[in-house]
Amino acid sequence: MSLAYITEKQLAISAVRRACLLTSSVFNKLVKNETLVKGDKSPVTVADYSAQAVISTMLHRAYPNDLIVGEEDASDLRTETDSLSSLRNRIVELANEALTAELGIGDIAEWGIGPGSEQNANQLLDAIDRGSYEGGRSGRMWTIDPIDGTKGFLRGEQYAVCLALIVDAQVQVGVLGCPNLPWDWLKPDGDKGCLFVAVRGQGAQQMKLSGADSAPLTMPPYTPSTFSFLESVEAAHSSHSTTSQISRIMGLTQSPIRMDSQAKYGCLVRGDGGAYVRMPTGVGYQEKIWDHATGSLLVTESGGIITDSRGLPLDFGLGRTLGENYGIIATVSDAHAKLLDAVQRVVKED
Ligand code: AMP
Ligand code: MG
Repeated sequence: MSLAYITEKQLAISAVRRACLLTSSVFNKLVKNETLVKGDKSPVTVADYSAQAVISTMLHRAYPNDLIVGEEDASDLRTETDSLSSLRNRIVELANEALTAELGIGDIAEWGIGPGSEQNANQLLDAIDRGSYEGGRSGRMWTIDPIDGTKGFLRGEQYAVCLALIVDAQVQVGVLGCPNLPWDWLKPDGDKGCLFVAVRGQGAQQMKLSGADSAPLTMPPYTPSTFSFLESVEAAHSSHSTTSQISRIMGLTQSPIRMDSQAKYGCLVRGDGGAYVRMPTGVGYQEKIWDHATGSLLVTESGGIITDSRGLPLDFGLGRTLGENYGIIATVSDAHAKLLDAVQRVVKED
């Protein structure tokens, strides 16, 4: 019997890997070596668009009927001004560099990659725009977050390239690329660059960005003395005070680990932190499906449970947002009920 989603998994790994090489190269060329005016977000814009163009081009070549929910759309790039045409040229150059790089292990030329696979500007803008699907409950759709954690990217810290395949509102395949994540959290100056891969019913693995050293992931059991929370660096993105209240209620003593992006999910499933808690800081913000699709499958495939703050499963079938969910609570199975109870006590107190 052949495994389900075997081609989709390989395609997703291949696409995320190419996008990660692209974003790292943008960082080295534009952020590290050029004097950027403080607050200039153009490198992240260039990397975001070109990474989505690369991933979307590959998905479309492999599965032309699949729909795509991507964070970016190209309408802003289509206007004819000098600054936009130079931005566009940069995007075309970077996307083509990534698409035409030599084939590696598992790569298939029919996915529109390898030498000779250049695309023109219109083809690449169309590829970006194919990410405009509104989402829904039935059929196949991919979610792309080309650069999650833009602030981390600009700081040279954590960011992630995220891709997931959702079929009939259930995440089936998820790949998370974290170019700056140390292979060993306790050795921040050691090897960096991790890929996290999950397929529903087939478990989760971590591997180097090169594909080497693939190892299965199982979350460690709940151990209060070492249990810490993973949360956003940005206080506006999740409530730091809520996690500290939960920590107090649960009698935990470790400080939270703050990092940008969905790299938090990678660190959760390999046991660097005990739980990822993301409680809203205000009313109105709805979490986006591309921010949690990959991570939610990584959690459930490595022995964890993920729900919202009321204990409800995340609903990926409502469109581009998790419109009916409030907050995100992800942890190893044997800690989830205790954590949820503490979260609900804090919510009630507030
Ligand atoms: P983080 O890296 O945890 O800070 O999360 C980054 C993500 O936060 C981005 O992908 C945004 O989609 C998302 N985001 C933006 N504004 C908010 C908000 N007000 N509340 C929660 N998440 C947000
Ligand atoms: Mg994001």
